Parts: sequence; structure tokens; C-alpha cells
Amino acid sequence: MVNNLEDIIKLSHQARLIPVAAASKIEERATSIWKKDSKNRQDFNLKQLILCLTLVLYSVFAMAKPPFRGTTELSPNIATASDPSAFESISYKGTGSRTMFDRRASDWVILNPFLFEARFDDGRIVEMQVNPEFKNNKTAEVEAKKYAWLIGQLPAVLRKDIQTSWIHKGNNLFGGGNNNILIHTGMALEYEKDGILEEILIHEAAHTSLDSYHSNAKAWLDAQSDDKNFISGYAKEFPGREDIAESFLGYIATIHRSNSIYRGERSKIRKAMPNRIKYFDAQNFDLSQYSDREVYLPPVPETKGFTELSCSEEGKAKSEDSGENVTINIFNNSNSMMQVHWLDWGGKRNLYHEIQPGDTAIQQTAKMHPWLASDGNGNCVGIGNPKADGTWVINN
Ligand SMILES: [Zn+2]
Repeated sequence: MVNNLEDIIKLSHQARLIPVAAASKIEERATSIWKKDSKNRQDFNLKQLILCLTLVLYSVFAMAKPPFRGTTELSPNIATASDPSAFESISYKGTGSRTMFDRRASDWVILNPFLFEARFDDGRIVEMQVNPEFKNNKTAEVEAKKYAWLIGQLPAVLRKDIQTSWIHKGNNLFGGGNNNILIHTGMALEYEKDGILEEILIHEAAHTSLDSYHSNAKAWLDAQSDDKNFISGYAKEFPGREDIAESFLGYIATIHRSNSIYRGERSKIRKAMPNRIKYFDAQNFDLSQYSDREVYLPPVPETKGFTELSCSEEGKAKSEDSGENVTINIFNNSNSMMQVHWLDWGGKRNLYHEIQPGDTAIQQTAKMHPWLASDGNGNCVGIGNPKADGTWVINN
């Protein structure tokens, strides 16, 4: 049973809030393939050949690579603190002996927790079991009520099999499964700081209320193999245990809270798991509470320090030796992969990056070194010249 408990990746949520930093990590691999632009154009044919081979290899590699590390880092806005809750009331039921899992001990412990009955507006009841370390029933009730409210924010389909919740102190990971939600209040504060407490709970509750019905269902396993990819590295690493929970949060973000993530990220999710999305759609889960809600999305970065030119400049725009180095963040705000080329001393394209939607590449270059973005078919989308350290946002 312990194996059913959650082992979710601790987030560096920084990565999502600053897309440039996150994506740069992803793009480092691509960038490192190619040296910075250089005047040395010897063996150009050989270079082109290596370029082609490497791009083929890179694209094959990229196809099988999950677009995210973990879906709880997708966005802090998939579910928010202001979402309505089905929580109705809480009542203290005294203490009683209960077997609880405590990650600080990495084991099951038998305690006499404070017990509370949490009631929800659809008649469901969850027993909140609060560790005696919270001293008295008043302080325990504060915790019980806080997490009962949060459980009430989950859609009914995710609350279905939650019968109890274990609440302990400590900075340990949450857990799902066992008809329970495992909470460590120290970790909850960290999740709150990152704005992802609600997203973590969706993930854990998916373990509790979805895994047992779906993770071994034939249609799910078919969808998994038809997609030929996973939504996250975490799902890929533990396909039997984490794929439902990881994919479900991505599904909510793409289909039911689609304004909580950048459109480039939506298309990455649709591309990575189209059959899983169909599978979830076919279940007719009632997720209406997630639709039509305004959520705050960090703004797409703006182009600055970068002069945009028309595509008709291709052929005329050539690199000149300015001797002034600059760094540009190239953000793909389109729905499709963008290729980014350095226009060399003769104005010829030299492919440097393939940037997925919603991702950023960091490029060291120089003033008077023009860059061109093209779609996957090589059609020019934009050209520009860096003026200073800055950002180039590719739209199409
Ligand atoms: Zn999990």
C-alpha cells in the first residue's frame, strides 16, 4: 500500500513563472549542438551535412521526449484559491485510534488523532484525522477546516473515493491513494507560496479517485501506446503509477482551464497526449466548475532590444562585425515549432534552434547579426536584428 502513496517531484516553480529560465534549460541541449556564430565557414558542406543529421536525430529525440518535467509545474492557475468549494461544515468528534501514514517516519503510525467530520454539499463526508502534535482540538480544527475547504474545491469525480485525510506537520510530500489525501502542513505552505497547492491536490486526488478505475483500463493503455509519448518525465518514469494523475492535470489545463496556460503549452499537451485527452473526454466527468473562470496568466514577454524586419528583407540582411555582444531570449509564442536561423555574412540561413511552442531559447550573438524565424517548412515568419540584451517574441 505504501507504494500507492505519492512521490511527487518537488517543484522549482520558478521555472514556470519565468518561462525564459525554464525553457532555456530545455533548449540548452539544442543550443549546445551548435557553436556560436563564427566567421569561420570552412567545410561548409560538411557542416550542413552534420546540421541535417543532427536535426534529424534531434527531432526524433524531441518527438519521444515528454514536454514537461511534471504537470504540477504547468501553471499555478489551473485551479486557484478563489475557486468555489463544496465544503459545508466541520464538526469535532473527539480523538480515536487511527493508523496513519507519516512521511517523516516513512511508515505507518498508530496515533490518537483529533477527528473531524467534514461535510460537503453533495452529501459526501470525509474524516479529517489531525495528528495529536497539533496540541488541542482548536488548533487541529483550523487545519482540518483549511484542508476540508481545499478538498471541497476538487470536482466531485476527484472527491469520490476520499474517505479520510491525514494531517501532519512537516515539510514532506503529499500523498494520494488509500482512499485518503495525505497532507504535511509545512509542505503545504511551500506549495501555497508557489501557488500550486490546488494543483498538487488535483494530482493527489486523481490517485485516490481515478487510478483504480482507469490506470489498467484497456482503453487507457491503448491511448497511452497510441500517443507514443508522455505528458511529463515523471509520468514516463512511472507510467503505471503516475500517468493518470500527471495526464489528468494536463487535461484540465488544456481543455477545462485553457486560459490558465499559454497557447503554446496547450498545443504541446494536445500533441503529447491526443488519445488520452479523447479518453478523458469520453468519461464525461462533470468538470463544469472549471469552465469560464477568469484566471490570471502571466503576460507573454514583449519583444525589446530587437528590431523586427519584414521577411522581404531576407537576402538583404547580412551579418556585419559590430564587435558588440548581446544575449537575446527567443520566445516562441506561436502554436507550432519555430526554427531560428542566424543570417551569416552572406545573408544565408544557419539553423541554430528548433523552439517548441511556449519555449524559449537563449542565444548569445552580436549587434548587427540578423536572425530569422521560419516555420517547419522553412517559410519565413520574421526577421530581426538585436540592438541590446533583450527578448524576441515570435508570433505567427
Ligand atoms: Zn503522483
